[in-house]
Amino acid sequence: MKWSKLMIQTLREDPGDAEIDSHKLLVRAGLVRKLAGGLYTYLPLGMRALNKVQQIVREEMNRAGAQEIVMPILQPAELWKQSGRWESMGPGMFRLRDRADHEYAMSPTAEETVTDVVKGVVSSYRQLPLTVYQIQWKFRDEIRPRFGLMRSKEFLMKDAYSFDTSMEAADASYMAMFNAYKRIFARCGLKAHPVEADTGDIGGKFSHEFHVLAEAGEDGIAFCDACGYAANLEKAERKAPPRADADCGPAEEVATPNAKTIDEVSKFMGVPGSAFVKSLVYNADGKPVMVCVEGDRDVNEVKLKHFLNAKKVELADYDMVLKASGANAGSVGPVKPADATLRIVCDLGLKGAKGRIVGANKDDFHLKNVDLARDCNVADSDYADLVIARDGDVCAKCGKPLAIKRGIEVGHVFKLGTKYTEAFKATYKTDDLKEQTMVMGCYGIGIGRTVQAVIEQCHDKDGIVWPAAVSPFQVVVDLLDPKDAAVAKVAEDLERELEAAGVDVVVDDREERPGVKFKDADLVGFTVRVVVGAKGLAKGGVEVKARRDPKEAMKIVAPAEAAAAVKALLA
Ligand code: ATP
Ligand code: MG
Repeated sequence: MKWSKLMIQTLREDPGDAEIDSHKLLVRAGLVRKLAGGLYTYLPLGMRALNKVQQIVREEMNRAGAQEIVMPILQPAELWKQSGRWESMGPGMFRLRDRADHEYAMSPTAEETVTDVVKGVVSSYRQLPLTVYQIQWKFRDEIRPRFGLMRSKEFLMKDAYSFDTSMEAADASYMAMFNAYKRIFARCGLKAHPVEADTGDIGGKFSHEFHVLAEAGEDGIAFCDACGYAANLEKAERKAPPRADADCGPAEEVATPNAKTIDEVSKFMGVPGSAFVKSLVYNADGKPVMVCVEGDRDVNEVKLKHFLNAKKVELADYDMVLKASGANAGSVGPVKPADATLRIVCDLGLKGAKGRIVGANKDDFHLKNVDLARDCNVADSDYADLVIARDGDVCAKCGKPLAIKRGIEVGHVFKLGTKYTEAFKATYKTDDLKEQTMVMGCYGIGIGRTVQAVIEQCHDKDGIVWPAAVSPFQVVVDLLDPKDAAVAKVAEDLERELEAAGVDVVVDDREERPGVKFKDADLVGFTVRVVVGAKGLAKGGVEVKARRDPKEAMKIVAPAEAAAAVKALLA
């Protein structure tokens, strides 16, 4: 391939809307072009990287025994109504109508459709286990599309679905996908960590996300170096060390005029945030619940939702707060709320807490010297781990400290159980002809997000540093004197020889200064660069250099040995 013929435009300036390096580089290296918010065209270089990741995914899915299918993007509303997700997906799902007024969803995922398909084909235990996958465009009306391909409205996803005869059998299918994911990300040149994840709205039994660690990551992940525990912060458990708070005198009212937030009251009273109990009234499926955590910590609403066994939890509105506590949100506390039957749940860190400051359930007043056990009506069983874990917290598994890092979720594996197969009555006949519900798993990889995660993990100040397996072109040959026929022939021979060996090469044959070519080569990030010029050839050779390490010495080799030198670097 000749650069002069390639549809490529490199940019010196960062795009205005790009906040993270990988997004800037995607656009500057001419891999993608923005059409509108959350919508991107893959230009030839981007398409090549996308195809390479797809190919790796396909090979590993096939190796794991999954079979490729492709399902329609346009999915009848009836399917989504049957699972209940027509409602629960809310505004995140794109919907439309055809001319006969039939409603459709633009597939954000495909559990419903695949269950309907498999139900129609599978009837006997002999056809199970079965895992199918597709690589297909998905559509989500994200609240905040951003970071380029990381969170877009339209994106390519590999989604696989397993069907098994039993919960135990489904574990084997899950593990097969789990292991395939490890291979896929390693082959893409990524360090991806499997971490325990919440099963979220999709419903299910257990799940892991695969995360690429990066400052730019949108998810927080708790890691324990000692025992290997790793979990998304939505889920990460922590132990609260036992407290030995000193006894305090009786609770006492203090006026805290105009101080509402913990920050304001703590400034006003001259005590640190940790001396407070943060009390929030939540609306859990329509019922008020007061949630108390240490003043300097945040409620983990996912943990709260699970603990309360609620479908939905959200902060209560003004009326509910007032009715439950007797005060505005800024003065709420666990001592004698207006509604004496109000359920109060506390984070474990507050067990045995004494001498605390809490809202007095009376506007502009707080109580000090509060002993939670003595002064509040909290059932023992209503102490639970309800906060977002933070750096230095105690690992719930082994007691050693947790470290919080940021990650990009590139893949997700779920053991779903029977949520969808029950809704769709997807059953099979056992060998004694009993009808049983299939057990399902689902497994996603964002193909575009993976491409960008590679860039986020593999770049330097000059540009992308592609791992060979996913590099749009593995090799660039910078032809410095394109008009000199003898020099051009050296480049062309090398191009042909490498292509014959299955290596992707682009020859930069543009009439540009060497500096421009080198800058572009570094920006796009081809794994290996070869420089072919009249001056070098006169001294007997061409330059061969790996992009990965700027300090790594460039080698001068005879033209006839260039292909071998390139292949050695690629390996
Ligand atoms: P997130 O938490 O980042 O919103 P998700 O958990 O909703 O993602 P899944 O439903 O698990 O995503 O989808 C499977 C995979 O699809 C994700 O692991 C991710 O790689 C990719 N993905 C999800 N949403 C997007 C998006 N808006 N743009 C690009 N890729 C996405
Ligand atoms: Mg996910």
